[in-house]
Amino acid sequence: MRYISTRGQAPALNFEDVLLAGLATDGGLYVPENLPRFTQEEIASWAGLPYHELALRVMRPFVTGSIPDADFKKILEETYGVFSHSAVAPLRQLNGNEWVLELFHGPTLAFKDFALQLLGRLLDYVLEKRSERVVIVGATSGDTGSAAIEGCKHCENVDIFILHPHNRVSEVQRRQMTTIFGENIHNIAIEGNFDDCQEMVKASFADQSFLKGTRLVAVNSINWARIMAQIVYYFHAALQLGGPARSVSFSVPTGNFGDIFAGYLARNMGLPINQLIVATNRNDILHRFMSGNQYVKETLHATLSPSMDIMVSSNFERLLFDLHGRNGAAIAGLMDTFKQGGGFSVEQERWTEARKLFDSLAVDDAQTCETIAEVFAQTGELLDPHTAIGVKAARECRRSLDIPMVILGTAHPVKFPEAVEKAGIGKALELPAHLSDLFERDERCTVLPNDLKAVQAFVSQHGNRGKPL
Ligand SMILES: *Cc1c(COP(=O)(O)O)cnc(C)c1O
Repeated sequence: MRYISTRGQAPALNFEDVLLAGLATDGGLYVPENLPRFTQEEIASWAGLPYHELALRVMRPFVTGSIPDADFKKILEETYGVFSHSAVAPLRQLNGNEWVLELFHGPTLAFKDFALQLLGRLLDYVLEKRSERVVIVGATSGDTGSAAIEGCKHCENVDIFILHPHNRVSEVQRRQMTTIFGENIHNIAIEGNFDDCQEMVKASFADQSFLKGTRLVAVNSINWARIMAQIVYYFHAALQLGGPARSVSFSVPTGNFGDIFAGYLARNMGLPINQLIVATNRNDILHRFMSGNQYVKETLHATLSPSMDIMVSSNFERLLFDLHGRNGAAIAGLMDTFKQGGGFSVEQERWTEARKLFDSLAVDDAQTCETIAEVFAQTGELLDPHTAIGVKAARECRRSLDIPMVILGTAHPVKFPEAVEKAGIGKALELPAHLSDLFERDERCTVLPNDLKAVQAFVSQHGNRGKPL
């Protein structure tokens, strides 16, 4: 399988290289040159397979030529073996023909584990084969950091540095990062905000001389392997609900457009999906595009669903590429316009094409809390604020009551106690067994000033399993 850039100017890469690449050299994102397509019979024959077996069938075409089947199978068995629910991604019914797909049974209690548990193992496998080592430098405002650290903690060939804004992530989120020890794991608290952290990561990709030749790898949601891993659970959910004979709809709490883009790919690979709902919080650039063909940057708002607090959606470029007939030059032009003026619209027929599949809703904090309270009263189920936004959007935007509606449950409510409290639910939240002593564990973290040179010096001092590069 070959991968090409959405801006048309970078060399095509194979799976291994795309795994290790961040952005393409032309500033674009990598996508498969040809998407695999499965027949209805083939998809139907996967009903009842355990999650890792289904994952093998769905993802095999993407890694062909880079990872032999037997090795990939073993990696997938290990990856999804660490999830605490035996169904890996169980469905829970909320209402008539309405379901939550629980994607929070991984080690860090958010859906990012599905991709990052796999990414860590894939990196280690490929690096071992090449006798190479890499350094990961990533910034997090919460969920990504812990999932990346959990995913890489056993990697022999990866050193990981995660930057978070000092005193500005929740205690659960911080402890999920700082209580994992290993000579290759480094938590850095920056005396600044999340944007400062992200800027330092960007600057480090732009000039890598401080790494003395060691390769820098990205673990943010533009990494193709993360998208790939997220395609699987759309198939998994649909097969549980009578697919592919019956079509299914999905409502997806959305920030960077990674998770929902995986759903779009599942549909293009042959899975009958009737409707995809983009559910955003007050940071609603995607809702403004879907509802009014305006993709315009606005200021950032802090919300009760912080993992969706974004100003621009990095993966949206991948959808735009398809909407423009995969014309890289057109995308490069649009992105240029965006950079200069802060916004664009697309031609009417392209927007109409997108609207055949996508609907959207922006949900504010008050509506989020109302939905948490409403669902709790109706069913006794406690939703996290991101998932609640998905439920609200599903109920507002649903096109057909006959088609099963699946809301992606992106996080466990215990990660976001503030929203649950604000919803007026008195029930105490309990950490799952494997995290029950989280608040008693020792923490390890280095506080550094908001200074690029200081951070880069730290990385180069510790980037080889705690020793200098
Ligand atoms: C990352 C995240 C999202 C948003 O996912 P995208 O792929 O960025 O759209 C939603 N909910 C939770 C809990 C997350 O951690």
